[in-house]
Amino acid sequence: MKRRTFVTRGLAVLTAAALPGARLLAAGTAIDILGLDGRQLTLKPADLDDLRAGFKGELLTAGDGGYDGARRLWNAAFDRHPALIARCASAADVQHAVSFASAHALLTAVRGGGHSLSGQSGCDKGLVIDVSQMREVRIDKAARQAHVQAGSLLGAVDKAAQAAGMATVLGTVNDTGVAGLTLGGGQGRLSRKRGLTIDNLLALEVVTADGRALRASAADNPDLYWALRGGGGNFGVVTAFTYRLHPITPQLYGGTLTYAYQDAPTARGLLRGYAEIMGHAPDELGADVALAVDRETQQRIVEFDVCYCGPLADAERVVAPLRKLGKPLKDALGQAPYTKLQGSDDPPAPPGIAAYVKGGLVYGLTPALIDAAIDYIEAHPAHNFEIEFGANGGAVARVAPTATAYFGRGASHTMLAFAFWKVPGDGAEASTAWVRGAWKELEPHSRGNYVNLASADDRETRVHEAYGDNYARLASLKKRYDPANLFHLNANIKPA
Ligand SMILES: Cc1cc2nc3c(=O)[nH]c(=O)nc-3n(C[C@H](O)[C@H](O)[C@H](O)COP(=O)(O)OP(=O)(O)OC[C@H]3O[C@@H](n4cnc5c(N)ncnc54)[C@H](O)[C@@H]3O)c2cc1C
Repeated sequence: MKRRTFVTRGLAVLTAAALPGARLLAAGTAIDILGLDGRQLTLKPADLDDLRAGFKGELLTAGDGGYDGARRLWNAAFDRHPALIARCASAADVQHAVSFASAHALLTAVRGGGHSLSGQSGCDKGLVIDVSQMREVRIDKAARQAHVQAGSLLGAVDKAAQAAGMATVLGTVNDTGVAGLTLGGGQGRLSRKRGLTIDNLLALEVVTADGRALRASAADNPDLYWALRGGGGNFGVVTAFTYRLHPITPQLYGGTLTYAYQDAPTARGLLRGYAEIMGHAPDELGADVALAVDRETQQRIVEFDVCYCGPLADAERVVAPLRKLGKPLKDALGQAPYTKLQGSDDPPAPPGIAAYVKGGLVYGLTPALIDAAIDYIEAHPAHNFEIEFGANGGAVARVAPTATAYFGRGASHTMLAFAFWKVPGDGAEASTAWVRGAWKELEPHSRGNYVNLASADDRETRVHEAYGDNYARLASLKKRYDPANLFHLNANIKPA
């Protein structure tokens, strides 16, 4: 999902965000809150004294300054009003909040960067455990590792790593949170060369439902390490990640290449050409394609988002076939630092944008799939939609589907259909209907899905489809680490 759509078109770097003076609930306060089973509970003042004791971050309820900002999610389609937000300042705060949530069996959401497309990092009338203020990023140049607190946004990690001449694999939009992105898998511009984010994830610090702070790595709790690499937010609240870094040249080659939708060879021909090119492309070439409408001209376009991370001397030759597909409307390909391609300096997305998304994995951009997408777009004119195919393959596909929880290794592309509208506004119904209609045509061409693109209204079987043969092992680990399903506001794996 690209920045273009949503934003107007040894070295140690510390970006810790200090909390603006801890705000704690006043003594004597009671709170009405929902339990895990949906029943209404009251947290008495004495209960809240326990939570307050030793909690260094902020505890926010409706009416507190800062509550409104803290409850808002990137996706304005979800206007959640939690009873209590625990904005943690440290791993100890997270432990405290999780233990409290478990002890009182509270409806609990977990928030990192707030980019959840399904709105599940917020909840109505429950507790939100929010790590978004824990944003320290520390680069260990000698060890080629990044130690990243779970509230960090990916642009900050990219910048810190690039300053040390390195990079790891993160997503494509700079204000996405590393936490949700990583735990679901993590697909980005370097994935074909370096794998998913989880393939570069060396260790995590996680607080499990019983309040224990555990390390998960190949050596420590390896089962948990396996489950956390793709299992989403099901297994606890992660407080920190350690990523492997790779050397990166100061300049890569990439940007966007835009074609008019109707011009010969038309969108259909462009997609067929792209499918052919990606079938033989080197791992160093990441190239996604989107069918969309240009916000300024209102013209339908076919846009390629390109990132070539191989030798610069080869770049023009490698991207030439994409350039020769037709006569581009706009060719913005060229040399650029990785952070520029990632938009690390772009402003955060403006508030008030709502989106409805459906996504799945495809194993080849077949002519039938291309026809399904184009026929739908042409039969249902709209100005606020996008159908996108993000390239996988390469290093992603060379990891066995059972090696990590993420199952869909062999997919050639991640496909998504989405539409967006402004809130307040009345675009929700038409936008949702457009995407649902598109998905009816597209889904039969997909197999499995990527949990980070889950929708709030997904049928439960979609989670089974996402995890395939890994589901049974995940369900038994869920039973071990979260038997009461405290962490269920996610693509939920049922304890079994
Ligand atoms: C504009 C946009 C662009 C995107 N681009 C990409 C992309 O390029 N590649 C890609 O792979 N995905 C992409 N995504 C999807 C993205 O990976 C997911 O939305 C992801 O969940 C966002 O993580 P977050 O921390 O910002 O989200 P949040 O909304 O904070 O959290 C989402 C979920 O993650 C879990 N979670 C969050 N923090 C923690 C934690 N500390 N411990 C345990 N669980 C936690 C919870 O289950 C929560 O419901 C994009 C999404 C958007 C909105």
